[in-house]
Parts: sequence; C-alpha cells; structure tokens
Amino acid sequence: MKLIYLDNNATTCITPEVLEEMLPYLKELYGNPSSMHTFGGQLRKRIEEARARVAKLLNAEPEEIIFTSCGTESDNTAIMSAVESLPQKKHIVTSVVEHPAVVNFCKYLERKGYRTTFIPVDKQGRLRLDEFSKAIDDDTAIVSLMYANNETGVIFPLMEIGELLRERGVLFHTDAVQAVGKIPIDLKKLPVDMLSLSGHKLHAPKGVGALYVRKGTRFHSYIIGGHQENGRRAGTENAASIAGLGKACEIAGENLYKERPYLKGLRDKLETALLKLCPDARINGDTENRLPNTTNISFEYVEGESILLKLNEFGVCASSGSACTSGSHEPSHVLMAMDVPPAAIHGSIRFSLSRYNTEAEVKKVIEIMPGIIKELRKLSPTSLEFLASSRKDT
Ligand code: PLP
Repeated sequence: MKLIYLDNNATTCITPEVLEEMLPYLKELYGNPSSMHTFGGQLRKRIEEARARVAKLLNAEPEEIIFTSCGTESDNTAIMSAVESLPQKKHIVTSVVEHPAVVNFCKYLERKGYRTTFIPVDKQGRLRLDEFSKAIDDDTAIVSLMYANNETGVIFPLMEIGELLRERGVLFHTDAVQAVGKIPIDLKKLPVDMLSLSGHKLHAPKGVGALYVRKGTRFHSYIIGGHQENGRRAGTENAASIAGLGKACEIAGENLYKERPYLKGLRDKLETALLKLCPDARINGDTENRLPNTTNISFEYVEGESILLKLNEFGVCASSGSACTSGSHEPSHVLMAMDVPPAAIHGSIRFSLSRYNTEAEVKKVIEIMPGIIKELRKLSPTSLEFLASSRKDT
C-alpha cells in the first residue's frame, strides 16, 4: 500500500538533493571543523556555506545564524539568553498556544522565580492583542510568540507586535519552526530579535536547527563548552545535518513562491470537499491568516484516534488533537485555548501537506473520509454521549 503522508507539520521527508549534500560528511568528509589541518578546514568552509544559505532564506546575515540541535534547543536558548542578559527583569510574555518547547520552558523558569504571562487567543486562534499590550511591563525581559501555530496553522501578526515591542524596548523572539520554508520571511523588515527554526520541518534531517540572533542583540550561550559557533553554542558541529539544512533552505527559497499556491490549492480542495461531504465538520482556526499547507478539521461526535486508525488502514498519515496522541494524555491545549467545544476537540484531525503531496492523494482522502466518519458515528457507542455533552456545553 502506498503511503499518503499528510502529517508534514510533525516532520517531513528528506529531499533527495539534501541527502546527496549530506552523504560526503557521513563518508569521506569526517574531519572535525575545528581542526587546524586542511582536512578539517574543508568542513569549516562548508559549514559557512550552509550558514549563508540559511541566512539567505530569511534575508539575514550569515553571522546572525547559530546552528543548534533542534527547534526546541533554539527556543530554550532564546528565552534563556534574554533572562540571563537582563538579570534584573523577571517577567516573560508568551501565548497560551505555544509549542511545549516554549510553554514548558517558561513553566520551568517559573519554578526558578520568574513570572510568565500567557496571552489568550480568541475562538479563531488569533492572539488577543488587547490583552497583549496590557501584559508588557518594565519587568518584561522577553516576549516569545510563535510565527505560525503547528496545530491550526494560524499566523500571528508579528509585524504589528514587533513594532510595538521596539517602541517599548522589549526583546522579541519568535518560534518560526512551522513558518520557515512555508511562507516568505524577511528579517530585514520583520522586527524580531531572535527566531527559531528546525531542519526536520523543511525536508532537512532531524537533529539540526538554527537560531537567528539579530546583530547587536545581547546573547548568552545555553550550551557551554568549546568555542564552536563563534563561542555561542558549544559542541562539535553536526556537519552532515548542517549541510543538509543549508541545502533544504536553498531549495525552499527557490520554490517558495510556486509551492505556496500549490499547497494552498491542494489544502483548500481537501478542506472544501470534507466540509461538504461530512456532516457536522468544522474548521478550527482563522482561515484568513493561515499556513498554506495546514488544515485542522473537527468531525464532531467521533474520536480523533478512531479516525486516525481508520485512515491508517488506508495508508493515510495525519494527526489528531484529542487525548493520548503525540505522547500526551491531554486534549490539545491549543484547541482548548480556542474554546473549541469538547466534542469537536475529540474529533479534530490535522492534515498538513508538503510539496510531495499530489492531487491524486488528496482525491483519495476525499473518497475515503466520508465513509470513515459515517461508519464511526454509527459504531461509536460514545457518539451519543459526545452529542449530549456538547449540546450541554454550547
Ligand atoms: N516549535 C513548534 C511550533 C513546533 O511545531 C515544533 C515541533 O513540532 C517545535 C517547536 C520543536 O521543534 P524540534 O522538534 O525540532 O525540537
């Protein structure tokens, strides 16, 4: 059975050209980039080429890019750097819908005596800007807000927020792990001080990421040791993955403008058909400001896990916002923050596409999904309970 992979916000496949770029480092180019000899020196040069490629995708300067091990490390580093650089400030502002890489790091810092304000979102998953400006005070060390949400694809208005923060002199970090490579990002224009990205979300391997730090921003290392990354991130460089990330960024930059309408077209086709063919289905999230590849749909009165298992039987990979998925035992904190009714949270499915998905794959999902939903609603002994509880809640 051919796999139909519609879970690209979880991770992506490695592009063949990216793999080609990486292979020499796993074979003959095994030197240490910090070595004095020419053999190691070759790697240093290539790491700098990769850095320039990452910078180009973001319209940043190469020296503003620090390679890390993943998006989580980049997020942790950005927040830690801010609080270490401004020891007199003890307040962090973020949102309720951030990835655990930010939410749980803020909770960790709370245990160390910091204060966090989690800004709420509205029913469409849009940041409550009214609450946001009230939250900033003289004690605020950093604001960390995601560029685009991994579950709904909703994009936050970073330009507007960044301008406000510049006026107030507050450091601004964005977790752009889901945005990089999917939408254009111009760091010469976007008023953020730090930005996180992750290789495996844009067809590079897992285990590599980057943190952009705007020139002139005070920075404190999080991983302490050797002098790698200009003294900003210790540890012998993961040369193969760094080269892969560089190539993936180059490819993303070359294809961004043609991929966006392609992905949006496929996503919209899928979404429109599923809403039409499956009764009691709804989209979660602001459909105006969304990543082109993501849709989060609730099929009410059915359990997301059951839908995923049925889809899996047809070789279709997606993810759900209900309990016990993604290693979590809680329903999606993002959908809960958006006040999505419980029956709709339980039946939520995220489809996230990539450049490798085709019309035929989308057609196949449109063909099988109505039958799956109908069958599960008939079979599920809990469907009536969901119906009853959700009518009470709404
Ligand atoms: N931030 C967001 C928005 C994400 O979606 C993810 C991964 O799902 C991360 C951070 C963490 O990235 P990584 O898996 O590279 O640690």
